[in-house]
Amino acid sequence: MRFLILSDIHANWEALQAVMAHVQGKYDQIVCLGDVVGYGADPDVVTEWVRENAANTIRGNHDKACAGLEDLEWFNPIARISAVWTQQTTKAENISWLAKLPGGPAQCDGFQMVHGSPLDEDEYVITDQDARQTAPYLESPITFFGHTHLQGGFLCTRGSVRRLGQVDQDVGEAFLELQPDIFYLLNPGSVGQPRDNDPRAAYAVYDDAAKIVVYARVPYDIEGAQKKIRDAGLPEILARRLDFGN
Ligand code: ZN
Repeated sequence: MRFLILSDIHANWEALQAVMAHVQGKYDQIVCLGDVVGYGADPDVVTEWVRENAANTIRGNHDKACAGLEDLEWFNPIARISAVWTQQTTKAENISWLAKLPGGPAQCDGFQMVHGSPLDEDEYVITDQDARQTAPYLESPITFFGHTHLQGGFLCTRGSVRRLGQVDQDVGEAFLELQPDIFYLLNPGSVGQPRDNDPRAAYAVYDDAAKIVVYARVPYDIEGAQKKIRDAGLPEILARRLDFGN
């Protein structure tokens, strides 16, 4: 089975459409690691797409916030404005679907899905040190996580952790051959708001028979997404940052 791993779509319909055009015919099933909404200007169309197309979805912190399950005091001002806007503009049935999403970890045919980390759905696994602390709690040899919006992840062996490199700007794809005796903590990157200084939409495909993970980056209509963010009256920084991918 080839699993298309999507994370942190963040209501960016232009980015999601580009990913789906790019990955057409290369996957069998879709899973989503959370943050379907928040920041972007298309919460309804993106939520409805995920509802219809993803076989398995767990919630992210922005899904919780936009569904009213999180105290917005903990959010930075920009995220808070966007969460309130999403609450006010999204259809009730989509909000209630977001509110019912399960928190990770979730088991999915031979791998684990988490939004932040296996210990805490809201934890950021960014550094080697973060990965080292998380490694003993990995219940499955393959865990996909999101939340950081940084494509890549970590290879965890006994006592050591190695970070995966970035996808080459020119090639746009990278292949990871999975080895036995290694625990993998893998991040497909963010579809809708990349933060690794590459503005292209990110995704991954995990082929469990071939034991390969393909990481990919896809250019998309950034201007279109930015226009919608500006027209919605959302903070300008949410449009600007899409240009830089951070
Ligand atoms: Zn996110």
